[in-house]
Amino acid sequence: MNMVSLDKKKFGSFILELSAEYTVYAPGKAGGKTEFIPVESEDEIDLKTLVTDLSPKGIFFPHSEVLYEYDKEGIRVPQKETGKPIAVWGMRGCDSRSLLMLNKVFGSAIQMPDNKNFQDPYWKEKYDSSVIFGTGCNEPLSTCFCNWFEGGPHSSQGMDVFVADAGDRFLMEPVTDKGRAALDKMSSFTDSTEDDKTTAAQLASEAQGGMAEPMDVNGLGEMLNNKYDEPVWEEVSAKCINCGACTFSCPTCHCYDIQDEGKGSSGKRIRIWDSCMFPIFTMEASGHNPRALSSQRVRQRVMHKYSYFPEKYGEFLCTGCGRCVTVCPVNLDIREVLKRINEYKKQGITNG
Ligand code: SF4
Ligand code: SF4
Repeated sequence: MNMVSLDKKKFGSFILELSAEYTVYAPGKAGGKTEFIPVESEDEIDLKTLVTDLSPKGIFFPHSEVLYEYDKEGIRVPQKETGKPIAVWGMRGCDSRSLLMLNKVFGSAIQMPDNKNFQDPYWKEKYDSSVIFGTGCNEPLSTCFCNWFEGGPHSSQGMDVFVADAGDRFLMEPVTDKGRAALDKMSSFTDSTEDDKTTAAQLASEAQGGMAEPMDVNGLGEMLNNKYDEPVWEEVSAKCINCGACTFSCPTCHCYDIQDEGKGSSGKRIRIWDSCMFPIFTMEASGHNPRALSSQRVRQRVMHKYSYFPEKYGEFLCTGCGRCVTVCPVNLDIREVLKRINEYKKQGITNG
């Protein structure tokens, strides 16, 4: 199947068709914020918001997730509510790409000390069977910087079906076999025309032209490693209040804590998002805290994203979605931090 065209008047029918096969998530309102919510009809979907307040990582890696319940009878893993696979509508390229990064952490086989390979079954059960309908961004925001990191407003990385919003219609193009198979089950659309293909190409080119010039991120990891002990960290972190909003809204941050909630002989083991920006994140049982200072925590977040993760997985742990820029209550802009570090490169300084 090649590109198909969906008349927006038939979008409601399309969502109903999709809902018959999948649990559908799409951008919507929740508690006054925009985030990806389960939907059953077109009316619940926000088609206007470009970058939702919360990223869609919570669909696959929930804020709080019961890993298992226990009592005297044994251990039970909670069952999924619907048993249907997940389809996501309206995910932007920065978010679909973040899922590929998270899949390297949760979905890739990790060799354990007993030589068995471990993959996170909670992530895999949801992510592997999911189908992602991603949407191109025709008018990127001033906070978007996906073009710094091999992304772009019409990038289809991490998507199964790429969707271009062409005004009165959606132009949908399968990216993976999974996306093709999902579209094969639907009937609300028609074949695309040559005009549609020209329109999709024009939208992509105009969107790309609307992005600000990217910063050169070559050698960024090395530069960060060389600046580990420099006073620059105190300078760039001075206004951070360690609220953690940047990490909770980020599509790629994935630190978590494990908590037990129990009474008597029964209880639950729960996985909960955590944040390296919180003072007690690295607190040790002895009371010693290797990252007691705010500057050390800001440095850790930046180093993890632009030095440690690339060293281990070969790419930056940031998609340039700009959420951390928008949400920070003290306007700490991670782009400015990176530019500050990059200044050393311009000056030809790599050490000291
Ligand atoms: S959102 Fe801003 S103030 Fe809050 S922890 Fe992140 S950088 Fe610091
Ligand atoms: S670090 Fe900021 S810009 Fe990068 S992916 Fe996270 S929230 Fe988006």
